[in-house]
Amino acid sequence: MHPALHCPGIAMNLILLGADDLTAQDHARVTDPRRLRHLREVHRANVGDEMTLGVEGGLIGRGRLERLDADSAEFSLTLDRQPPAPLDVHLLLALPRPRMLARSLEHVTALGVKHITLLHTRRVEKSYWQSPELKEDKIRQHLVLGLEQARDTIMPTVTHEKLFKPFVEDRLPALMTPASGTPPRGIIAHPGMPDECPRAVREPVILAIGPEGGFVDYEVEKFMAAGFEGVHLGERILRVETAVTALLARLG
Ligand code: SAH
Repeated sequence: MHPALHCPGIAMNLILLGADDLTAQDHARVTDPRRLRHLREVHRANVGDEMTLGVEGGLIGRGRLERLDADSAEFSLTLDRQPPAPLDVHLLLALPRPRMLARSLEHVTALGVKHITLLHTRRVEKSYWQSPELKEDKIRQHLVLGLEQARDTIMPTVTHEKLFKPFVEDRLPALMTPASGTPPRGIIAHPGMPDECPRAVREPVILAIGPEGGFVDYEVEKFMAAGFEGVHLGERILRVETAVTALLARLG
């Protein structure tokens, strides 16, 4: 299990409910050890307390703790608000090492990204694709932590692209020229590019971020050929999780 799931200090600003937790439209029962422990140890919750809850894929609102015992917590719910607006950025993230991936997933989810593509590039360690951190349930744990942190309920999608060339040649053009809606602006972050990363971009963005070793020239050229702009973030070279956070904050 990811250490954050044991760490009582981590914020859970929203208790994310699954459809299974709902016992009625306005009532929920939480039985899993992670959320129960969190309620006790971090919220130090008592019957009668009010907290923020949300239903995965749906509304957020308030919940009143009606019962708390060893193996369940019961809430009465008033779900009346939309989750925060998503960030219209599709992230193409060269697969970083597992711990960096875990943290990056939490950050980008908290910042509102809804589409994440994990991409193989020349400088991605091949063994990372075999990491248990890439299993669906592991990825989901990090996405849940990001959603809870930001009081969001809309789960991002995560796609794996283990072959660079077929992705950039065959699938990226379709992402760049969608059948409907505004075509996105393609942006590749690469130190040393002449242009600065733009700020507060209004149109949808597809953002490519390299692995710890960076993109190789061939990859940068492929993205440019697909219509991407190369941008830098200043002369400081940031680690992946910092770069992704700085870039999203600047674009959003
Ligand atoms: N040694 C690599 C740096 C990799 S940092 C190199 O020189 O290319 C990992 C990724 O974070 C980079 O591929 C890039 O996408 C992003 N990044 C980090 N610092 C950046 C900066 N100052 N400008 C643009 N992108 C940056």
